[in-house]
Amino acid sequence: MSSSRIRVLATGGTIAGSGGSAFGSGYRAGQIGIDDMLREVRSLGVEAELDPVEVASIGSQDIGWSEWDRLHSEILRAQADDSIAGVIVTHGTDTAEETAYLLDLTLDAGKPVVLVGAMRPADAVGSDGMRNFANAVRVVSDQAAGGRGVMLVMGDTVFAARDIRKAATSSVDAFRGFPRGPLARVTPTSLDWFGPPDRTGAAARFAWPDGLPRVAILIAGAGMDEKPVEALLGIGCKGIVLAGMGQGNAPARVLDALEKAAKAGVPIVRSSRVDEGLVDRNVEVDDDARGFIAARALGPAKARVLLMLLIASGMTGTAEMQATFDRP
Ligand code: ASP
Repeated sequence: MSSSRIRVLATGGTIAGSGGSAFGSGYRAGQIGIDDMLREVRSLGVEAELDPVEVASIGSQDIGWSEWDRLHSEILRAQADDSIAGVIVTHGTDTAEETAYLLDLTLDAGKPVVLVGAMRPADAVGSDGMRNFANAVRVVSDQAAGGRGVMLVMGDTVFAARDIRKAATSSVDAFRGFPRGPLARVTPTSLDWFGPPDRTGAAARFAWPDGLPRVAILIAGAGMDEKPVEALLGIGCKGIVLAGMGQGNAPARVLDALEKAAKAGVPIVRSSRVDEGLVDRNVEVDDDARGFIAARALGPAKARVLLMLLIASGMTGTAEMQATFDRP
């Protein structure tokens, strides 16, 4: 049964932000209820049938297990409902890459699921929220949108969850895609895909877990010693993602402490604090000898999501974990 009904799962963020000046200072995320937001969307002439569910009303810096768990089950429910064509999740931009990637790893690549946010609150001059939302409706309504996994629509651009990263704090085109660039360009009147769906009919890669373990990101800095690693182990981290310098480097004392942890069974993933690029195995750091995993194309935030999921799924082998980072 084909349908133009779209389930809208609201979580908050700047797209629902207001209360500041028209110049965008002093606003609070997650202030506008989903019914008010959709009223405005309809007044713009967006014709699709929008079916709202409020999951949360928060800034995405506060998102965590309970919201993710609810989102996942709401999306499963929408996917099983023949009257629903696809799902839009309104979300803050700060952690959109984490939520999108977690959902992407744990959902079938069937009906389209699109995250959308805004960089400017609804009452700011030049607010981008309504345009992004109208674009998201256009994407989800498109016949060619399914089979691509979870996507993000921002700044007239469609990205795959696996590729996105927030790369600017305030500009409206704040997101970049790596290693792939955008999947499509979208405006309220046009949509151009740059290739066919690549995951048509693919099943979820991981089962939804019962919870997620404590995994920390450690940013390497010049002159750092082993104490921060010891502190993270001391609070019970089950895994550590190093956001290293360059291709995932860190001072020798930090690497030695991380090696000790890896050999004691705490998985260590080396990613980079640099905005873009691969972290490959055994380039400057001997991952084989030290027992590390290389994050390859994943930046620290998404590497942490994948590592949490691997640990939660009971995976323990470094080689097995590396294989999932090689094909994220
Ligand atoms: N702090 C906000 C959030 O992530 C920022 C935004 O939405 O752009 O919820």
